[in-house]
Amino acid sequence: MNMQEYIDEAEQALLHTYNRFQIVLDKGDGVYLYDIEGKKYLDFVSGIAVFALGYNNKAYNDALKAQIDKVIHTSNYYYNVPAIEAAKKMKKVSGMDRIFFTNSGAEAIEGALKAARKYAYLKDGKTDHEIIALNHSFHGRTFGALSVTGNPKYREAFEPMIGNIKFANMNDLESVKNCVTDKTCAIIMETVQGEGGIYPAEKEFIEGVRALCDEKDILLILDEIQCGMGRCGAMYAWQLYGVKPDIMTTAKALGCGVPVGAFLMTEKVAASSLTSGDHGTTYGGNPLATAAISKVLDLFEEEKILENVNAVTPYLEEKLDELAAKYDFIETRRGLGFMQGLVFDRPVGEIINKALEKGLILINAGTNIIRFVPPLIISKENVDTMIEILTECLNEL
Ligand SMILES: *Cc1c(COP(=O)(O)O)cnc(C)c1O
Repeated sequence: MNMQEYIDEAEQALLHTYNRFQIVLDKGDGVYLYDIEGKKYLDFVSGIAVFALGYNNKAYNDALKAQIDKVIHTSNYYYNVPAIEAAKKMKKVSGMDRIFFTNSGAEAIEGALKAARKYAYLKDGKTDHEIIALNHSFHGRTFGALSVTGNPKYREAFEPMIGNIKFANMNDLESVKNCVTDKTCAIIMETVQGEGGIYPAEKEFIEGVRALCDEKDILLILDEIQCGMGRCGAMYAWQLYGVKPDIMTTAKALGCGVPVGAFLMTEKVAASSLTSGDHGTTYGGNPLATAAISKVLDLFEEEKILENVNAVTPYLEEKLDELAAKYDFIETRRGLGFMQGLVFDRPVGEIINKALEKGLILINAGTNIIRFVPPLIISKENVDTMIEILTECLNEL
């Protein structure tokens, strides 16, 4: 079948919840993806901040193949070595104390919210606790995660949400303070907002939120699902601010393509929140998924992934800033590390489609923002190629 025939079949079978780009992808290698007709694309999306190590990394693939030949799944009723090793490595890179593995980002959020409610319940025995979330946030599509997602469009048709959620504004400490009551059990936020438009937290804001949480024994949940795993230049973006969460969530690049996530907590929260029987998952942390995590974390060190992000970031920022200066219709650039956004005064869909035709994969964040979340192995030459193609597209507007 040719590409169009596959697309037609897909549209007969798949639920139409995505307006998909009109290509059928076949394989990947490094920073490139190939469609089934052999056309090559430079990828500045990495499956939405997932494929940090680039495609077809041999050491990663070999580790997965070896695990497949041993055992893919057991159950969380038994121990398995890959999960134990992954947990140990994750504690080391995160500085958190306890881990629960999930299958996705949204499920990590669900677990984090449950842990926060249980922590508050054990303190006062009440069941009316409130959670503060932020406008423009994105935490996932399941009911709990959607309830704390600060985009009414995503929630409206599915009301009622879980309830007792209040929304404040990113980088506006007063608005957070105004939401606090004696029922508040947690504040949840992305350290750098992703889907909502690439808004990094300001240092003073996140420090203020931390101080507020400490003062009132409110738990700070940092969602690092998109901005974590080295993307912003530290293993977890909060480490750049020196503000540690009580609970954090991670997913996306954690397994570099194998579906896995986790929520992690400090000993203080672990000692007095979820306990046996409170939470569970069939697949979460299975040997295949945790073998992936373990290898990913090893390769981050061996392949000096963070070093590359920090070495190439100033160049990427400079080049994007040049575009912002050159074109009137680009308002600004914002972001941290390899999580950047170019803010336009108009919808960016047409530009992204043009780029795809010219062999460059980009994605939006909201209607007016082009988001750059490439594999963490990109070089300055890859940045140059991306800028060249993007410039061509902009000149055609
Ligand atoms: C993608 C994302 C999620 C949801 O993760 P899924 O794996 O799609 O469920 C949650 N929070 C943030 C910040 C994300 O970027």
